[in-house]
Amino acid sequence: MPADGGAPPRPAPAEGSAELEALYQERILDHYRRPRNKGALPGATARAEVVNPTCGDEIAVEVILDGGLIRDVRFTGRGCSISQASASMMTELARGATVGAAGRTGRALASLLAGKPVTRAALGELLALEPVSRYPARVACAMMAWRALGQALGVRREA
Ligand code: ZN
Repeated sequence: MPADGGAPPRPAPAEGSAELEALYQERILDHYRRPRNKGALPGATARAEVVNPTCGDEIAVEVILDGGLIRDVRFTGRGCSISQASASMMTELARGATVGAAGRTGRALASLLAGKPVTRAALGELLALEPVSRYPARVACAMMAWRALGQALGVRREA
């Protein structure tokens, strides 16, 4: 609360508002234009590749696994802004996470994009992908980096 009589803080944009969607769009474009952790990962202990033929997207994920911990993760690929931005966000969330935690985050994103109830606080920046849920054909774009991560980690897909 401003005690000095200054301008009041801007209220947080309402969920589902055009303003919030514009913010989300900005986050996606930022990751698309300046992808984090993109490129080959020297010393990778596992690798998996996922393609999305309907959109022409390709994502390869490399990880350095240390017991149950993801020491490092990088991705390479090309495709639409959603697939690449989602991969960039995935690397930031998965790096340093346990295999179990990364799996839970990936499943939470899948639930979000399927319009199912989900603990929103656990998703962090991935909430920027929420508008994708209204375009079912693009959900695969947003999920492919997480599918590739799961495959690289040897995690069985859960129904
Ligand atoms: Zn795509």
